Amino acid sequence: MNSVVRRNRNVFVSLLASETPHLLPHLEDITLAPNQRLQRAGERIDYIYLPHNSVIALVASGNPSVEFAMLGYEGILGGAAGFGVSDAICDATVRIGGSASRITPDRLQTALAGSEALRRAVTAGEATLAMKAQHAAVCNTLHPVEARLSHLLLELSDRLESEELPVTQAALADALGVQRTTVTLVIGKLQSSGALACGRGRVRVVDQNALVQNTCSCHDHGRRLAAKLVPAVRESVVTPVRGGDGAGVALA
Ligand SMILES: [Zn+2]
Repeated sequence: MNSVVRRNRNVFVSLLASETPHLLPHLEDITLAPNQRLQRAGERIDYIYLPHNSVIALVASGNPSVEFAMLGYEGILGGAAGFGVSDAICDATVRIGGSASRITPDRLQTALAGSEALRRAVTAGEATLAMKAQHAAVCNTLHPVEARLSHLLLELSDRLESEELPVTQAALADALGVQRTTVTLVIGKLQSSGALACGRGRVRVVDQNALVQNTCSCHDHGRRLAAKLVPAVRESVVTPVRGGDGAGVALA
């Protein structure tokens, strides 16, 4: 997958390119490293991030901190800065390293001022994150670890468009807010059933249907949310096809 196709998997990048092409020189392509902190709650937002094949974890800071959403190519981190919100409302850390674009708040504000479609899209993206946060509160409180882990692995697999997930058990425990030993036990059970295979620093989804059977209702809920995300954006881009190499539209 070439870099132009990869960056255009992010619907906000595609929309920025089509609606405000004069700002493209200010859209910087970068590589995000695993565990890199992108923003901290209460501190100034320096950049808005648009993942291509990377995945960002959004974390409500506290003791302990709780991850409430992840963002991949479908998302935008810090979109509220485009509307003048200067400080981050949560922590954000790179869960899976990879490529992304970033733009400064003042440039995004310029883009939003010039495009109604972009304003609608970013507003919808922020609203979707708020809904995810509410739903995560329910999931983290009421649903068992095995269901939540299955949901998490399916979400990662969807965003990476791969069954091979470069993630450690420690990172999974961190994401779920549980002890690593708990994750080890649940993964062992899923391995025994043939749903997963694990190696050093990676998990492979062997039987996706088995994970779907194991997960909670949050999986369907999340997919319905994603399907509703920004109709105007979806009309302007080609929906990525799992495993395909031709998703997205060219910038030039
Ligand atoms: Zn759930």
